[in-house]
Amino acid sequence: MKFNTKAIHGGQEPDLAYGSVMPPIYQTSTYAQTTPGEHKGYAYSRSHNPTRHALENSIASIENGHFGLAFGSGLAAIDAILKLLQPGDEVISTSDLYGGSYRLFTSIYKKFGIKFHFIGMQDSENIEAYINKKTKLIWVETPTNPMMNIIDIKACGFLAKKHNLLLAVDNTFATPYLQQPLDLGADIVMHSATKYLGGHSDVVLGALVVKDKELADKLYFIQNASGAICGPQDSFLVLRGIKTLHVRMQRHCENGRAVAEYLANHPKIEKVYWPGFENHPNHSVAKAQMKDYGGMISFSTKGNNFEEAIKIVENLNVFTLAESLGGVESLAGHPASMTHASIPKEDREKIGVLDSLIRLSVGIEDIDDLIADLNQAIN
Ligand SMILES: *Cc1c(COP(=O)(O)O)cnc(C)c1O
Repeated sequence: MKFNTKAIHGGQEPDLAYGSVMPPIYQTSTYAQTTPGEHKGYAYSRSHNPTRHALENSIASIENGHFGLAFGSGLAAIDAILKLLQPGDEVISTSDLYGGSYRLFTSIYKKFGIKFHFIGMQDSENIEAYINKKTKLIWVETPTNPMMNIIDIKACGFLAKKHNLLLAVDNTFATPYLQQPLDLGADIVMHSATKYLGGHSDVVLGALVVKDKELADKLYFIQNASGAICGPQDSFLVLRGIKTLHVRMQRHCENGRAVAEYLANHPKIEKVYWPGFENHPNHSVAKAQMKDYGGMISFSTKGNNFEEAIKIVENLNVFTLAESLGGVESLAGHPASMTHASIPKEDREKIGVLDSLIRLSVGIEDIDDLIADLNQAIN
């Protein structure tokens, strides 16, 4: 099956009881047994739930994996991956990382004896320089947040195989519509389904997908033992979201391109960060591993003025000033005062998060309204 068909049908059969086309919301904690230990495959909803199961199969299908695992949030999914590690293990990760992942790594897992290297990952020789006998995991996020750098997943997969490491890719920004990391050599794909997979800003949920049975078993053990699962209602909402992922992504990409080009031609704009531009430093990698370039764009204004950036985001009307991304509605954020406010200005500017940087999650509204809104706010 091709992607657009898998988005709608992947891993889902009409319900066995009444033939309902959408998997029912099995809002139950437990299941009747005929004799102790004998049941229809479901004994307790932390371990298994039919609605969650349908979602896990759907996500596995669109990521070209064999096993899916759904969690209560994207961070709960990342947490499960880190629980594969032992004290003394080392992780190599990008310096330009989702803030919540950085916090989980440094505030929680560091104290359990895991060492993290935050490095520039655009150059695979630089990654290899940090690999030693203790390295167990390469953590990739691409495109990165908010600088929209692109990391070569295939090159990372090659390094992971060579040194016998796990490669995990946070595919939240790209979605499987744009890139499928398991096909490029990743062992684990992670999603904050809160964003594009859910797509309607109405649910928080996370997921992992793998191909390997042994790795899936280990992650399932952690999922069940730690218990950070998602509920059936939330599973249903993400299942419903995935059914329109391809159509939404197509429009996110079209609108993203138009907004990026508009900004690049605006005299007040200093720089636009969007991997679709030929002069983007990693454009050729983006072109090779992505189908299109998505709806996430960052830009900075000339003069790098903090107050001016605040004024722009305040004056937007169609774009909503909010955290998060990937919903049908357009959102704008100011990383220096929102997502990256806790990072000291010097460190923040080192990775490119300037005072004037604004991040857009371009939605699927009419493009004329989006550009008119940006135009009035910037002018
Ligand atoms: C939001 C996000 C996460 C965390 O997901 P939650 O669902 O908020 O826990 C992780 N990575 C990226 C890239 C994200 O955007």
